[in-house]
Order: sequence, then structure tokens, then C-alpha cells
Amino acid sequence: MSMDMPLLIVENLKTHFYTYDGIVQALDGVTFELYKGETFGLIGETGCGKTATALSIMRLLPENGTIAEGRVLFKGENLLEKDEEEMRKIRGKEISMIFQEPSAYLNPVFTVREQIIDVIMAHQNLEREEAEEKAIEALKLVALPDPERILGSYPHELSGGMQQRVMIAMALSTNPDLLIADEPTSYLDVTVQAQILEHLKNVKRKRNLSLLLITHNMGIVAEMCDRVGVMYAGNIVEIGNVRQIIKKPCHPYTMGLLAALPRPETRRKKLYSIKGSIPDLINPPSGCRFHPRCPYAMEICRRRKPQTVEVEPGRYVACHAVERGVVT
Ligand code: SF4
Repeated sequence: MSMDMPLLIVENLKTHFYTYDGIVQALDGVTFELYKGETFGLIGETGCGKTATALSIMRLLPENGTIAEGRVLFKGENLLEKDEEEMRKIRGKEISMIFQEPSAYLNPVFTVREQIIDVIMAHQNLEREEAEEKAIEALKLVALPDPERILGSYPHELSGGMQQRVMIAMALSTNPDLLIADEPTSYLDVTVQAQILEHLKNVKRKRNLSLLLITHNMGIVAEMCDRVGVMYAGNIVEIGNVRQIIKKPCHPYTMGLLAALPRPETRRKKLYSIKGSIPDLINPPSGCRFHPRCPYAMEICRRRKPQTVEVEPGRYVACHAVERGVVT
């Protein structure tokens, strides 16, 4: 893996949603980097801002969403300064995204052939025949058996797992540099989930793709990712190498998140389970947004948002207690 220049830099991203109840401060300064060939995970509970991060990068926020601050540098260029036309070219061609539900992405009235060829021809100057060859190649890449038959099928004629693989094939058919996968397997049963993840891994290796994988499942992070960012209420509270983080989480929220995982070694310190519920992001808690639920919360946590500090090489944590050595 080349670790020189990040492919993607997300810097201090602040995304808001306007609702009847008020402004939802969904992202509160999200910062991370993703390198070429790397799989970077974003993990956290529902509503923590993982999907908002992906949609902000792709500039696909719903109408009530707006990026208030920050930069998204892809190959050194700020995507937030691109016009819609330029973004359309980048989306699909250089950055592809796959979603939780293939049904939200695949059109029920067209065959797989029509849809996948459409995607390919929209981004590459190819004859129909060549596009069809590319389509078959893409289906083979995700190990779909009998690609000819699949091409002639309508989405509803395929199982959920197959639809998901078709969507991945479509996303990869234009040979993107970056694939963003938002909970790509959460609706599938465990066996199919494992297969899909295996395919993603293989494809990633073959194509030297960079993958941004969004999930609430630490098992998937452990299986798939090189590094991970742990998100809570619109902030990344801890970033680091997956193995390091699983072995020894630093941030109190990460500790709680990991407590849910079966841990074979009893030598590890006992982790607590997180009490309470995720905060209202229209009126988020002051200071550290985790303070109402944090067993280590101190006076300063209510007053000041913790800065992100590098606690060991490549390991970043945003927590007053960690910074002061109260939590180690
Ligand atoms: Fe807990 Fe304070 Fe650290 Fe936030 S900053 S996680 S409240 S100790």
C-alpha cells in the first residue's frame, strides 16, 4: 500500500440539515484521510453522521442538507468547489457509491443489461458491443455465475445478494479509484454478507481500489478495514489502525462500542456498556457531545470540545480524559 499522498482528504466538514424543528448539526468538523489502496472504515451508531459524510463527499445531500464548512480534497482538488457538471463526471467514473438497498439504486423496469450499459456508456466513449463486454467483465469480477443470463434479468428476478453484487458490478464497471460502500450488506443474511464482503475484498485487491466502508458492525471493520474512524454524534472521536483500536480502544465511546464484541482474552480491561441514547443534534450537548453518556466526564468536558490529538503514531483521539492521562 502506498502511504504517501492521500487520495481523499476530508477536512473539518460541517454539514447541516434544515428541518421544521430546527437545524440538525449532523457533522461537526469531520476530518480524515484515505490513502490509495486502503480500506478505511467509518463506524458508529445510526444517526452518527456516517451516511451524511458519504453524501457530503459525493455532493448528493438531500435538498435540506448543506455543507456549511470544510473541504473535500480528492486527488488534490476540492470537490466542494466543483460545479454540478464536473461533479457528475467524477461521480460514477472516479468515485462510485453503493448503498444499503440495491432496490433504491436498481431500476425495476429495466434489465440489468440496459442499466449497466447505461452507466458504462455515460462515462466512457465506447461502442455498445464493447460496453457489453465490459459489463460481462464487471459481473465476472464479483463472481456472478452465468453473466449472460443475469444481463437479461430484471432486478426482481434476482435474489437480494445477487442484486447487491450487480450493484457492486455497476459501481465498478467504470473503473473508479474510490468506492464508497454504505452498509453494503446490512440487509443480507450472514452467509451472503460474508460472500459479498469477500468479493469486495478481492475486487479491491485486483483493482487497487480505495474503499470507504461505512458500517455499524465492528466485526466487519475487523474483517475488512486497514484503518477506522469511530464516529459519535457528528464527530470522529478516534482514528487508527484497526488492530490497534480493537486491542486497546482509547476513547471512552470506542470502549463502549467494543464492549459489545465477544472478547476471548480476560486480561483485557473490562469494558463498560454505553448507557443512554444518542443526542438530539438540533441542540447537541455542549463541549464534548459524548459527555452526558460518558463515565469519565469531567467539568471541562461540558465546557470545551476536545481537540484531536495524536496519542501514538497514526492514532488520533479527541478526549479530555485521554489527553490528561486520566484514561489510558
Ligand atoms: Fe468523556 Fe470528556 Fe472524553 Fe468526552 S472528552 S469522551 S466526556 S472524558
